[in-house]
Amino acid sequence: MIQKMASHIVGYPRMGPKRELKFALESFWDKKSSAEDLQKVAADLRSSIWKQMSDAGIKYIPSNTFSYYDQVLDATSMLGAVPPRYGWNGGEIGFDTYFSMARGNASVPAMEMTKWFDTNYHFIVPELGPDVNFSYASHKAVDEYKEARALGVNTVPVLIGPVSYLLLSKPAKGVEKTFSLLSLLPKILPIYKEVISELKAAGASWIQFDEPTLVLDLDSHKLQAFTAAYDDLESTLSGLNVLIETYFADLTTEAYKTLIGLKGVTAYGLDLVRGAQTLDLVKSNFPKGKYLFAGAVDGRNIWANDLAASLSTLKELEAVVGKENLVVSTSCSLLHTAVDLVNETKLDDEIKSWLAFAAQKVVEVNALAKALAGQKDEAFFSANAAAQASRKSSPRVTNEAVQKAAAALKGSDHRRATNVSARLDAQQKKLNLPILPTTTIGSFPQTLELRRVRREFKANKISEDDYIKAIKEEIKKVVDLQEELDIDVLVHGEPERNDMVEYFGEQLSGFAFTVNGWVQSYGSRCVKPPIIYGDVSRPKPMTVFWSSTAQSMTARPMKGMLTGPVTILNWSFVRNDQPRFETCYQIALAIKDEVEDLEKAGINVIQIDEAALREGLPLRKSEHAFYLKWAVHSFRITNCGVQDTTQIHTHMCYSNFNDIIHSIIDMDADVITIENSRSDEKLLSVFREGVKYGAGIGPGVYDIHSPRIPSTEEIADRINKMLAVLETNILWVNPDCGLKTRKYAEVKPALNNMVAAAKLLRTQL
Ligand code: GLN
Ligand code: ZN
Repeated sequence: MIQKMASHIVGYPRMGPKRELKFALESFWDKKSSAEDLQKVAADLRSSIWKQMSDAGIKYIPSNTFSYYDQVLDATSMLGAVPPRYGWNGGEIGFDTYFSMARGNASVPAMEMTKWFDTNYHFIVPELGPDVNFSYASHKAVDEYKEARALGVNTVPVLIGPVSYLLLSKPAKGVEKTFSLLSLLPKILPIYKEVISELKAAGASWIQFDEPTLVLDLDSHKLQAFTAAYDDLESTLSGLNVLIETYFADLTTEAYKTLIGLKGVTAYGLDLVRGAQTLDLVKSNFPKGKYLFAGAVDGRNIWANDLAASLSTLKELEAVVGKENLVVSTSCSLLHTAVDLVNETKLDDEIKSWLAFAAQKVVEVNALAKALAGQKDEAFFSANAAAQASRKSSPRVTNEAVQKAAAALKGSDHRRATNVSARLDAQQKKLNLPILPTTTIGSFPQTLELRRVRREFKANKISEDDYIKAIKEEIKKVVDLQEELDIDVLVHGEPERNDMVEYFGEQLSGFAFTVNGWVQSYGSRCVKPPIIYGDVSRPKPMTVFWSSTAQSMTARPMKGMLTGPVTILNWSFVRNDQPRFETCYQIALAIKDEVEDLEKAGINVIQIDEAALREGLPLRKSEHAFYLKWAVHSFRITNCGVQDTTQIHTHMCYSNFNDIIHSIIDMDADVITIENSRSDEKLLSVFREGVKYGAGIGPGVYDIHSPRIPSTEEIADRINKMLAVLETNILWVNPDCGLKTRKYAEVKPALNNMVAAAKLLRTQL
């Protein structure tokens, strides 16, 4: 029998070490396997995770953190909050209804998906109106608890807390402006009570409520809802130990006061990694006799924990809360990190010694708990200390020249010498574009054949010559098509790129790549972020060959196509041994080198995509200004050195940026193309309200996420709407994002109609 230490895991990845769940789900959706096959894969994954944690000595092991799609959708199912359009008739929710809500079906589109706090995980947003009939419609939480118990593991069942559930919801169609979501609290609590009672009856002794919304900026009305909810649940919860888990940031003083005042609660889970103030809050006031679940092991990144440093923090906390009341935990669910380092066959031993994925983090948590209990595993701690030291001193991490160059950037502003309207004039002389110029965002459809060529080249199955020949042919095809369509500013189509971050990371130093470091993004979709482990530099040009090859095929301007520093940063696992902005400045300098080489090679239009700038915005408003300042500065660094006649474009995949419009203007790009097609109004209202915008702007005129082909009239109509608020001479006409995932049969007619619409309007202006 393994002795259990005071250790806890907030949650664990569900996909499996080799994405077993992904493949089982997709095969089920494609009708290639049965529901039983899928359930079997899921049950095997759950049991192996429980066993692994139990073998590691973890005392508080979570259940109900598995999900077939999303944990918020699971809560929606538990509450029977199925929007009426899915035609659900009550009873226990099955795969049909569940996956229809998640993915849509032949007749009804899916529910909306949005980002889970500031992670790259997306959840299904509950849609709630005044007449939802809540009912206890999914017994998953209780079933999983029983399943684990039958395997000999007494778990801590995890539920999304009732207040966070409501705060993460949106009002149903028709009641958007008038409905208070929190007014539903008295209607959902009875369902929570049923679930709690069943869990108690099944033998649970602990329960965990995830209330991560407690870390946001909440007004007193919202904080009050937490107090009311747990007041109401108190008697049902009696007899259970209750953990309220928070993560992703520290709490405001007010929120912390609310948390420690909640009735019926035994334990508080706090993030020590992202929560800069967490330590001080606990020290200032911690209720006697309650448990602190101290999130010391980072659930958001892939670095090995600095065990000695954590241990000393934990000892400080122990002195405050008492030896018996401290439990070592992860900072948040391990869902946001990669699964198991064991499957990384391509990373060298040195880099591997610096890393810990979910499976390794479980071991770290337990090692810390054991050390606190006076049973420190000296060998494990000293191996960890050696790895920390090697990471600090490795020449692979530090590049003096890069450090110096990045440090030198901080004081100054980095702006182009001339203002945007003068630059646009100079560029127009050179480019000679019509009004309402047409362009696309970069990628063209990626056919199976094209993906095969790239894969075979990577695996050394075809020669470099054959690869270059194939890619050149593809570029030629794309260039010819754009000329035929009569587009004004061309792109090469990005056929050589698998992914807009990976492509650059692979060519920059300071980056490492995993083979199985997948992280769930939504549903069965996973991403494999690069790991930035060292100072970033660019050994040689990355895109110049392809861009100049493409330019040589046409007399029209060819856009050079780069990913910007903020997006590379936000879509990678970032080093934790220096501030994010320092890493971002380093990437900016590398991209700056590339911009200047493109310019030298005769590329007059360069697009630097910042698709992910908006999503890096910190959770708390007090931190927004600082982030936006260095993010925008990083972007400007990349292109502050180009001539007036070189036109800098940027692209963003987010339309709801009314709140950051001034930062976008401050990026000082010559032209910005933005996703817009699903929310014309929101975007245009910014300009209607009088924001002065002098640079070129191309709000997407049609939605590339849908196979639907927009008509010429429809596109012309949208352009007209934009012309009502924006100056004619700054408006560009383009789709709302890259065309990579579309088919040529959709792209050709859609672009054809887009160009026709632009031409039609030119004759009317
Ligand atoms: N240039 C990229 C493309 O067209 C931009 C993709 C994105 O914005 N996500 O694919
Ligand atoms: Zn985009």
